[in-house]
Amino acid sequence: MTTELEIGLYIFMLAGFLGYHVITRVPPLLHTPLMSATNAMSGISLIGSLVVAGAGHTALSTLFGFIAVTCSSTNVVGGFLITDRMLKMFKAERDASRDGQPARSGGTGVLVLVGLFVGLGLVAYLAGRLRASGSTAGLEQAVKFFYILSAALFILGLKGLSSPKYARRGMFLAEFGMLMAVTGTLFNHEILSFQWIFAGLGVGSIIGGSIGLWVPMTAVPQRTALSHSLGALAATLIGISEYLRHVSLHDLGTVLMTALGFEVMIGGLTFTGSLMAAGKLQELLPGAPMTYKGQNASNITLLTTMVGSLIYLIFVPSATVVFFLMVGLALLFGFLLVIPIGAADMPVVISLLNSYAGLADASMGFVLMNKIQIITGSLDGTSGFLLSLLMCRAMNRSAMNVLFGAFGKVEEEAAAAVTDVRGAVRSIAPDEVPSLLDSARLVVIVPGYGMAVAQAQHAVAELATLLLKRGIDVKYAIHPVAGRMPGHMNVLLAEANVPYDRLFEMEQINPFFPEADLALVVGANDVTNPAARSNRSSPLYGMPILEVDRAKSIIVLKRSMRPGFAGVENELYYNPKCMMLFGDAKDSLTKLFTVFK
Ligand code: NAP
Repeated sequence: MTTELEIGLYIFMLAGFLGYHVITRVPPLLHTPLMSATNAMSGISLIGSLVVAGAGHTALSTLFGFIAVTCSSTNVVGGFLITDRMLKMFKAERDASRDGQPARSGGTGVLVLVGLFVGLGLVAYLAGRLRASGSTAGLEQAVKFFYILSAALFILGLKGLSSPKYARRGMFLAEFGMLMAVTGTLFNHEILSFQWIFAGLGVGSIIGGSIGLWVPMTAVPQRTALSHSLGALAATLIGISEYLRHVSLHDLGTVLMTALGFEVMIGGLTFTGSLMAAGKLQELLPGAPMTYKGQNASNITLLTTMVGSLIYLIFVPSATVVFFLMVGLALLFGFLLVIPIGAADMPVVISLLNSYAGLADASMGFVLMNKIQIITGSLDGTSGFLLSLLMCRAMNRSAMNVLFGAFGKVEEEAAAAVTDVRGAVRSIAPDEVPSLLDSARLVVIVPGYGMAVAQAQHAVAELATLLLKRGIDVKYAIHPVAGRMPGHMNVLLAEANVPYDRLFEMEQINPFFPEADLALVVGANDVTNPAARSNRSSPLYGMPILEVDRAKSIIVLKRSMRPGFAGVENELYYNPKCMMLFGDAKDSLTKLFTVFK
């Protein structure tokens, strides 16, 4: 084993352990920003892409480098902008009350980007001049230290996400770290020209900037999936370009071939898998799981052929046809891996793909022996994997069930196995609710996926403000998998200016339910189903839930008696304390607000 590889592997493992400890401290409140922050950091594939775009080895490698720079800079600019937009919405009560400042406008964002471009242009000019005078050796040494510093800044950035108070500051550090890494790379001696670098940076920044500034918060899951596909495409193209270069130089050793193989294989499957996930979430593709006979067997055969091709290439690296066959199979595998999964399960898939994109990035780091890419890839991989596991745990699903696919199907089968819950269902009209509210001292609001569908977060916040004005205490109960992505409810409520200190995680709020005069359930279903506690035959059995049924009275806002994501009937609705306020959540809340005002 070469010393370089040994060091690389140590770095990879240590960064993974460090990432694990830092990321487990990120509260569920900030899980969505964490997803987009690690996504932005995974844009560190920019470092390798810049070198390939500027080295001018062949016309094809320059083209691939240009596309990779475009994809990576889209992720960096878009990822950091959207993370900042989200984090700015998280306010404590005292900050929310004196809030009046508008969010950073699109104009300011564009100005910052233009400023950065001018700065990078000057650095490129300086690098060119220094290279012409033959005095870059010292600078290249300095650049290595810049990389170390930027790695430290990334870790501090993630550490900032352990509290909403320091999260934005943390992200500024990470952004600065990225800027330093990019600036330093411009001094790399392999870069001979800058025109394709700047063209890629320009196009990527415009696309990323537009996405980051204007994409609605409700579209964050599909944006994240799309962004993983861009990062994976960058890694795959750089992998192909490096493979062709080294094949022509006849210097493909075992280590390099292994790293290249992993890079294109994981990159390829993440690219098509993420595109599929984004398509399903955006409803461009059918959301229902697509299954066929022998699906698992054919997927396993495909995977075995891919791994077999890689092993063959390690011994015969010049087998170009096998290499491209492997790339083709990886692209097909990513596609086939995601089609049997229902749209509702995509968040787990996105998180897993995030982890794969990190691994592709780290492999690229091994190919180019670039330590900062190894560190960031490892952090990204750990973060994605951890979030997937947390989601599985909160849904009471096994990691095996997630890893081996076809889980969208499970819910359909679960629906058939619904327990026969029967009893009287009481409904209530909006004008009957004020009498209940008037006598209440504590109201617990339980938001769920239906709040997101109805876009009712502002109506919820308005009603809560009115209740508070009337001296009624209001708390929000947040289940870790309410909605369709980790931290979904937190982001929506933050968007509606609800202070984060009014939001309570499941373990914190459950003891409050017995003293709550009213639990107002806004479009939440599965996360409130008491069957999870008491009914062994329920598919939800064992999932920790919000103990809404312990409140003195309950009002559920939803449109019908239809079940939620898990397809299981909710026993709560037959509880004598429970009243159903049927209708779209936003409409019902607006009516309620009008009669209570
Ligand atoms: P849910 O169980 O899916 O229920 C949502 C409810 O919202 C539905 O019963 C629906 O009933 C109602 N609804 C939809 N549109 C509405 C509207 N416009 N107005 C009012 N109500 C509306 O949601 P949940 O309680 O939030 O639970 C989340 C589920 O997603 C869990 O099963 C969880 O395991 C799963 N999941 C979550 C994540 C994550 O990361 N958060 C990831 C993967 C899976 P009507 O149709 O009758 O209105």
